Amino acid sequence: MFDPIQIAENTAKIVTRGDKRKYYRFRPARFYGGIATADCVGCCLRCIFCWSWREVVNSRACGHFYTPKDVAGRITRIARKKHFQKVRLSGNEPTIAREHLLNVLGLIPFDIYFILETNGILIGQDKTYAQDLARFENLYVRVSIKGTTREEFSDLTGADPAGFDLQLKALENLHREGVKVHPAAMVGFSPDENIRALQTQLSDIHPSFKNMEIEELVLYGDVEKRLRHANLPYKTAYLP
Ligand code: SF4
Repeated sequence: MFDPIQIAENTAKIVTRGDKRKYYRFRPARFYGGIATADCVGCCLRCIFCWSWREVVNSRACGHFYTPKDVAGRITRIARKKHFQKVRLSGNEPTIAREHLLNVLGLIPFDIYFILETNGILIGQDKTYAQDLARFENLYVRVSIKGTTREEFSDLTGADPAGFDLQLKALENLHREGVKVHPAAMVGFSPDENIRALQTQLSDIHPSFKNMEIEELVLYGDVEKRLRHANLPYKTAYLP
């Protein structure tokens, strides 16, 4: 079990260099009706179902450094070429490199929506992060919750159970600052009563959060192998 805040700090030292951050791919993607995507390197969790595991656990060897101008320019050009209205940072965890992220956001044209996909840990830990993000009107945040309880969170991510509370706190901080935000949750390992309890917790933050997005478990790459080796409850229901 590890402290995700400490891992975020350690990882930031590897994946940032001045205002540059490591990325391993720039691509058009079909999600959200078409979105230009920059896949960053480095995360503060170790989710058993992670589809970009190689970059998470091997961030020193993966990717190349790009300035905010490089990143904003690349995803904007992809969006214009493909006639997309949206861009995003994805892959690993975008919030680890705070200044870099804010600088990328500042360079995205106002007519393009920026979707920030995050595990929320750092936004939950520091409310000024949500205040910084609130400056951007073309920003939409999707907080991806891992499991439905503190225990499930820890089983799925390897991190301290308190990280689950930080994910919910991120939603609270973002909503309070007026940032457009919605929760998504990986509930594929969770019994129905836990899912219902999470919905109640979310609706206490804001009634609309009860309608959380359900994240699908996709067996990309070696995800299935990792699941088979993990001693997690419910996992057999998701394996062929
Ligand atoms: S938070 Fe996302 S990138 Fe990080 S380990 Fe989990 S699934 Fe992978």
